[in-house]
Amino acid sequence: MAGHVTENLQRLRATLPDGVVLVAVSKFHPSEALAEAYEAGQRVFGESRALELEAKAAELPGDIEWHFIGHLQTNKVKKVVAAASMIHSVDSDRLLRTIDTEARKAGRCPGVLLQLHVAREETKFGFTPAELLEFVTPQLVASLEGVEFRGVMGMASNVDDEERIRADFREIRRVFDRLKSTVFASSPRFDTVSMGMSHDWPVAVQEGSTMVRVGTSIFGEREY
Ligand SMILES: *Cc1c(COP(=O)(O)O)cnc(C)c1O
Repeated sequence: MAGHVTENLQRLRATLPDGVVLVAVSKFHPSEALAEAYEAGQRVFGESRALELEAKAAELPGDIEWHFIGHLQTNKVKKVVAAASMIHSVDSDRLLRTIDTEARKAGRCPGVLLQLHVAREETKFGFTPAELLEFVTPQLVASLEGVEFRGVMGMASNVDDEERIRADFREIRRVFDRLKSTVFASSPRFDTVSMGMSHDWPVAVQEGSTMVRVGTSIFGEREY
């Protein structure tokens, strides 16, 4: 599949609207596949494991923008903060505070996306919309100077029902809009709605995604 990375990327770019950021989700794929995407002009890559991110960041060109998209344990935060410019999967108060602490120590300031849980599956991580709207206050934001609040991230239910998927994305966008018009009303950098994967990104974009996380459609199937 590696030989198709360039054409897969070209096809995707031709269909993605301007202004929607493409995160190439490269988890579980070898560095050679990422290098091919890099050669084709891709600069934003998403990884979901701290050690894999660390290893790939050491091996690949320094102008890559690494995004961490997987569930993050607090004992791995230091590694992730060292490499990632954006963390999509902030799903608890404790994790957010740990990222802030480690970022200050390292002299870094990663962008963070607050992860929402709107899908039907119990197994997914994240704040419910009500939890998130209660959690994010001006006081919280002012107290965490080691991170930059950039927006929200979420996943739709893993179902075939397009209306269900659409409703989930709409809910994620609604929570973003609410935060944007209140706590972040004077924060132009709070501008990111990360939603949409290989199978559902067109619906996500219709519902207001500004950043899609696409793996399989670029790199092929992953081997777990
Ligand atoms: C793996 C993963 C993706 C990419 O999924 P594909 O179906 O391969 O496009 C996107 N977002 C998250 C959070 C992931 O873990």
